[in-house]
Amino acid sequence: MSEAERLNAVGAPGGTGKAVEDYAELALFINGRFIGSGEGRKSQEVVNPATGETIGRLPHATVADLDEAVRAASAAFADWRRVPAVERGQILRRAAELARERAPSIARGITLDQGKPLAEALGEVNACSEHAVWHAEECKRIYGRLVPARQAGVRQLVEREPIGVVAAFTPWNFPFNQAIRKIAAALGAGCTIVIKGAEETPSALVALARLFQDAGLPDGCLNVVWGVPAEVSEHLIRADAVRKISFTGSVAVGKQLAALSGSLMKRATLELGGHSPAIVCADADIDAAATLLAAQKFRNAGQVCISPSRIYVERAAHDRFMDTFLDRVRGIRVGDGLAPDTTMGPLTHARRVRQMTELVEDAVNRQARVECGGEVLDRPGYFFAPTVVTNIPDSAYLMTLEPFGPIASVTTFTATEEVLTRANSLAYGLAAMGFTSSPKTSQALSQGLQAGMVSINHWGFGAAETPFGGIRDSGWGSEGGIESFDGYLNTKLVSETY
Ligand code: NAD
Repeated sequence: MSEAERLNAVGAPGGTGKAVEDYAELALFINGRFIGSGEGRKSQEVVNPATGETIGRLPHATVADLDEAVRAASAAFADWRRVPAVERGQILRRAAELARERAPSIARGITLDQGKPLAEALGEVNACSEHAVWHAEECKRIYGRLVPARQAGVRQLVEREPIGVVAAFTPWNFPFNQAIRKIAAALGAGCTIVIKGAEETPSALVALARLFQDAGLPDGCLNVVWGVPAEVSEHLIRADAVRKISFTGSVAVGKQLAALSGSLMKRATLELGGHSPAIVCADADIDAAATLLAAQKFRNAGQVCISPSRIYVERAAHDRFMDTFLDRVRGIRVGDGLAPDTTMGPLTHARRVRQMTELVEDAVNRQARVECGGEVLDRPGYFFAPTVVTNIPDSAYLMTLEPFGPIASVTTFTATEEVLTRANSLAYGLAAMGFTSSPKTSQALSQGLQAGMVSINHWGFGAAETPFGGIRDSGWGSEGGIESFDGYLNTKLVSETY
């Protein structure tokens, strides 16, 4: 059955929301039913950031839709929480298999609405399907424990129970990755979920809804809604049945959602922004460090929360580092992510381009030097040139505000103590990197960097079996690793006589 036939078969009233031939049919997904635009629902355009052209229309949920999604998730929870972990795992594993089978079309959708090169989009789908596989296995190990009692004839059990309905909100930079992490954690724990993705990049989440349905997930366990972010999140967080929220996005919005959920005593997992320091010592393999940092800094056009956005190079190695780093950056081929030779696509929306311009202007006003790039590219779409800035003071906005775009700031340091103080000077605490050949310096960096994740001499973030998350303003809780389920489970003591 074709996508169009399928959507019509499941009842998408009022059109398919599809404006270009090979882009996804956009829909809400509530209680097992795909719902397109129509029936008086508002909708919004979805734009290809590489061309500025409209590629689809995304239906917004009405208040009644949101209530129906929560009601469906709540009803489904009564049964899903009792489905044995082995069976929950089978559905998660089947979903991962389907994601890999459908990776080419899901990836094409991501490139069309998010902009990243097709190879990166394909990598996102294939690598991040692993999160479903890992949670499928790990959910079998949600153990309780037996605590020795103080009296004979008493048994004390500590049990872990799914928390209930989860409301989740995911951003536009990794639309498949962020969503599958939250869905796999919630469903693996025995929770049900209502999730709102980013309206700019909806195709991957609609594809996820389809493949979880095809994997045999019962109706109501996963519901997908769209709308005005602040309105949808407030309505869902206030809903009685919603017991937990999970949000990935900016610090400012995360704090608002944390305040609201805290006022209602609802648990929250928050994966917020970062401004990751990368410290390159003179004794490191400088070529390798420069090559790795250039690749990671400009991946996804710099729209990555763990992007190495403040690069501190020991003064003695600065020139050697810059030779290789600039060579790698100048080799980046900017273009439409669908073109086979493109290695960096556009930014996902126009407001990020405006912010890049402001950040460079501020740096130049403070005597920073633009080594390459620094300007908006004169072509349709939201393109900003890969940019490297040096001689930049720590007070520049580029060094204090998360840039979230294709600008690398490189500065120098002379002593480890000094650079640690500078690296730790911001309120963010997501990821940090170090490069050195000295075990002693390596230890000083890994112990001294205040971050939820530290990687030395390589890129060590994001595997399904390791925790991903920040401290301080960068958030609460972990996604991935055995910590992943903590946010989705209540602890219950049962003390009984026998
Ligand atoms: P933004 O703060 O407007 O939005 C960030 C994300 O949150 C978007 O996906 C948006 O749809 C969603 N959002 C906004 N208000 C919301 C609300 N009240 N309730 C629920 N969701 C809401 O910022 P932006 O311009 O889209 O992105 C810029 C900043 O966002 C970046 O500087 C970066 O710090 C942050 N960001 C972080 C991540 C991450 O992976 N941690 C991802 C995307 C964006």
